[in-house]
Amino acid sequence: PTFDTMGLREDLLRGIYAYGFEKPSAIQQRAIKQIIKGRDVIAHCGVACPPSNPTSGTGKTATLSISVLQCLDIQLRETQALILAPTRELAVQIQKGLLALGDYMNVQCHACIGGTNVGEDIRKLDYGQHVVAGTPGRVFGKTRAIKMLVLDEADEMLNKGFKEQIYDVYRYLPPATQVVLISATLPHEILEMTNKFMTDPIRILV
Ligand code: AMP
Repeated sequence: PTFDTMGLREDLLRGIYAYGFEKPSAIQQRAIKQIIKGRDVIAHCGVACPPSNPTSGTGKTATLSISVLQCLDIQLRETQALILAPTRELAVQIQKGLLALGDYMNVQCHACIGGTNVGEDIRKLDYGQHVVAGTPGRVFGKTRAIKMLVLDEADEMLNKGFKEQIYDVYRYLPPATQVVLISATLPHEILEMTNKFMTDPIRILV
């Protein structure tokens, strides 16, 4: 399996190789093709992951970055993908991954996180951000062009009490928004969320 045969755009492939990736990881091989087809995907990172850091080390951040980048219309200077994460650090890590892998795409990505200047967020968003990554309590911006919502470490977001905020954000998104959820565990509240947000989701166990 190679990145070449996954149907990715040239400028993205170039970024992937320039970043130093040679071959897709297991989750990348299985999830990217479903996400870029437009399917709703539940990536369940289960027992194979170390309990200390359940969903990292599998290449899942790059999975969502590559999938999001593939789906963008760069000419359209509006937010097309929204990524929610449980911590500021993870949101920034996702933003950096997007910028690195999208280095040849001229992509604008902003991290909308707490503890920073809201005026700066507004300026960045007014400039036009293709992707916004952030924590559920802080993200804002125009939603009319959003076509993909990613919930990263969804179980951690629930543990942190972000459930209501996630539902609040979801209510502002266009009805046809594609949803991708990544989680180490799938408790009842997550399944409730997938039932509410997703249409015929594919479940991938990593
Ligand atoms: P993640 O699970 O996304 O946090 O990634 C863990 C580490 O693996 C990060 O340092 C990534 O840059 C790296 N990584 C992700 N995907 C690949 C890949 N296909 N080839 C090589 N390294 C990768």
